[in-house]
Amino acid sequence: MRPFLAPAVLALSLALAGCAATSARPSRQAAAVAPAPTAPPKLVVAIAIDQFSADSFAQFRQRYTGGLARLQQGAVFPSAFQSHAATETCPGHSTLLTGARPSRTGIIANMWFAPEIARADKRIYCAEDESDPASTSREPVVSAVHLKVPTLGERMKAANPASRNVAVSAKDRAVMMMGGHQIDEGYWWKNGAFVTLAGRPLAPAAVAENAAIASRLKAGEPGYALPAWCTGFDHAVQAGPVSIGTGRFAMEPNKPDQFRVSPRMDAATVDLAVRLVDALQLGKQQAPDLLSVSLSANDYIGHAVGSEGAEMCIQMAALDRLLGEFLGKLDARGLDYIVVLSADHGGLDTPERLAQQALPRATRADAALLPAALAKAVTAKTGIATTGPLLFADGPFGDYYVARSLPSADRARVVAALVPLLRAHPQVAAAFTADELASAPLPVGSPQDWTLKERARASFDPQRSGDVVVLLDRAVVPIPSPAPGYTATHGSAWDYDRRVPLLFWRKGLPALEQPAPVETVDIAPTLAAVLGLGVPEGAFDGRCLDIDGSAANSCARK
Ligand SMILES: [Zn+2]
Repeated sequence: MRPFLAPAVLALSLALAGCAATSARPSRQAAAVAPAPTAPPKLVVAIAIDQFSADSFAQFRQRYTGGLARLQQGAVFPSAFQSHAATETCPGHSTLLTGARPSRTGIIANMWFAPEIARADKRIYCAEDESDPASTSREPVVSAVHLKVPTLGERMKAANPASRNVAVSAKDRAVMMMGGHQIDEGYWWKNGAFVTLAGRPLAPAAVAENAAIASRLKAGEPGYALPAWCTGFDHAVQAGPVSIGTGRFAMEPNKPDQFRVSPRMDAATVDLAVRLVDALQLGKQQAPDLLSVSLSANDYIGHAVGSEGAEMCIQMAALDRLLGEFLGKLDARGLDYIVVLSADHGGLDTPERLAQQALPRATRADAALLPAALAKAVTAKTGIATTGPLLFADGPFGDYYVARSLPSADRARVVAALVPLLRAHPQVAAAFTADELASAPLPVGSPQDWTLKERARASFDPQRSGDVVVLLDRAVVPIPSPAPGYTATHGSAWDYDRRVPLLFWRKGLPALEQPAPVETVDIAPTLAAVLGLGVPEGAFDGRCLDIDGSAANSCARK
């Protein structure tokens, strides 16, 4: 419902305000906005930009002239939240097409620990099947076995088995979290080529893409030109041993990592996606198809050299151009498609540059927060020691696990000693025990107003989360020492990591911009309504967003 002023009333109120004399005579009524098409689209294109913060979108959005400019003519939500605390790739991708927060998807982090499992490697990768003896957390047998809920593609297939569910990315975890358990085709990058699930042959589309990439890798390529508007970004900053800020992505022969950490990685991912559209004739049949495309270059570049140098400026321009070409190719194929674009998490620039740019508090996490250092301090306090590690964690923050070889009374003593140590540390914003989070209610209301405990609750799973969950203070970057390829990161409970853009576009969709906070878990219910999918009550943590900017409501279609 929106309040409606009849033209006569409007004219009267203008006259009373003394404006009528200067106003042009109103021609009856402003033209009503035409509603969006009501028939479900034949193809859903779900694009995730890895590490694309709402802050980056705000900084660059006036510069876009390609695909990101087109998408801004649709339904724009500049403040969408990955509302949970563990703002990493796997949890973030797990929310995008499930409509569920990590507390429900079970994807609480990229890596968690199961100190009780039999294999020597106690760390579990979010997209591995550790029950396969060939799998390790570093060399995983890729699987969606840990994802506890269905994806949109799986719901589409349940409604109509003819629907295809296809996913491509540089990252296996992005493919598995957006695609889910039932993927028709799924490809990710490994050691210089696209690969797929164990036991499946590479489709000819992937073979052709890999051949094209192989000849480029062999030859090497020059760097990218600096767009004129990027010159202000182009200055060097020293982050430990690494000089950042002036890179151009020149690629030496046979250096696949220089391909991966550059705009080339996104271009190759999109190129493979288009080949799959053609090979499978996606969007050309009666049942709608889903194509997930997760573009990882932003994240690789952000980690390597941060977000405020020439490198990210070049990447933003290349990404915008690439998406424009991608949408143009879908248009050229005459497809009726809807696009959703969002991100798995935001990010923060490299602290050495932030310190020069008006954020002097930006700093690196203290190595004393790493699990081995904390274990030493706990042993000194309690006298409790183990033959293997006493504490497990994947860095100086997040989930900490106590060795399961200890009797439970000793484990409780370790937690009791650990928590005050953490809370006394000046870089720690909050430390919660598993018991505290398990007994906290699931958060409701606007995600920007949630407490730190509520944020942590939204990525807490009692089966998988740590015995203690640690949130670092603002602008404390959890990389104690920068290294080539790794100077900046995300993963915090702060809004620079939680807030991402969310854009929907379809031909004929009236424009709207809604600055109020929404969530990435709203994507699945929004698209389910557009597709006319029946979904059981309570299946989503998010809500349907009415993306039709006219008087019609895209959430109320049958
Ligand atoms: Zn990342």
